Amino acid sequence: MAVILKDIMDIIEKRAPSYLAADFDNPGLLIGDENSSIDSILVSLDIDDKVIDEAVQKRCNLIVTHHPLIFHPFKSLKASNFKERLILRIVSSGINVYAAHTNLDSCKNGINDYLAHKLGLNDISILDDSYEDKLVKIAVYVPEGYEKKVQEALALADAGHIGKYSCCTFNAKGEGTFKPLEGTHPFIGEMGKIEHVKEVRVETIARESMLQSIIQSMLKAHPYEEPAYDVYPLKNSGVKYGFVRAGCLNPPITLSKLCLRVKDMLNIDSVNVVGNPDRIIKRVGLCSGDGAEFIPLAYRDGCDVFITGDIRYHDACDARDMGICIIDGGHFGTEHVYMKELASYIKDELKSRGLGQIDIALSQNNKDPINKV
Ligand SMILES: [Zn+2]
Repeated sequence: MAVILKDIMDIIEKRAPSYLAADFDNPGLLIGDENSSIDSILVSLDIDDKVIDEAVQKRCNLIVTHHPLIFHPFKSLKASNFKERLILRIVSSGINVYAAHTNLDSCKNGINDYLAHKLGLNDISILDDSYEDKLVKIAVYVPEGYEKKVQEALALADAGHIGKYSCCTFNAKGEGTFKPLEGTHPFIGEMGKIEHVKEVRVETIARESMLQSIIQSMLKAHPYEEPAYDVYPLKNSGVKYGFVRAGCLNPPITLSKLCLRVKDMLNIDSVNVVGNPDRIIKRVGLCSGDGAEFIPLAYRDGCDVFITGDIRYHDACDARDMGICIIDGGHFGTEHVYMKELASYIKDELKSRGLGQIDIALSQNNKDPINKV
């Protein structure tokens, strides 16, 4: 059975919703047609000529990347430009390209969650709160006898979560009135006559990001031609997302031992380090890729060390002067490790949704452009 690209996009966006992407970012379907039938998938951190060669050779007509190949608008697509030439090659090879970038950094079970858990951190928290999925209250008026159907539709579409409880609603009985006007086909009552109907006001709470699908689900289950419902914003705290994770090592270990653990975790030969190798590390902050801007945040949080990539000389000097250690596993090193996890997540989801068995390969040609010699 063919798998449609849209189905694969749904799977990736279930884990990394596009609303979590930073404003500057450009994730999503970058090249192709969401109605394409996908033969096999290549997962890679980036795209270069060698990755395209591999996709062609493995007959992969979808490349899923972390870094978006297209970030800024193009004025032309010329073979003489190194970036535009890649796009021309991709298009002429019939390959689709999809990217999950900052939304994959900050989502639940995304890159930074993965690193924090793999490192064995306890009591993991989000330090930067870059996005809050606000909460809304939905109140819908349902004729008596139909409230269960509407409650179920709301719950099925993700409404009604409070802490570790689901399907939460409040139901109050009352009387609704309405007069069907010309051209209506009322479920109850007659045109031109005021009706008094026993109704139930069903209230529930929902994440704003899920509102559209919840309303659609509710409308589908509601018997009325024109269901009456209200949506209003709440001051309750919503679900927080961010790039930076912090947690504790139990038992604490030295900085040098933590370096060994990081190298093992990232499957890399070396890291750059700032700090005394014998310092005892208890609290760890981390952010994959280019996370140096968060060093002061980790310091204020009481982290003994911050793990990231792309540390520049002056970042290292500032960290030394603040008294926070740094482990730099490289931009590629701190992110590439997650690509295998992404590939197996897509594979498992395709299987559990009964969407057929297609090959998903982790790119072997995608290498760190920075070599240590
Ligand atoms: Zn990156």
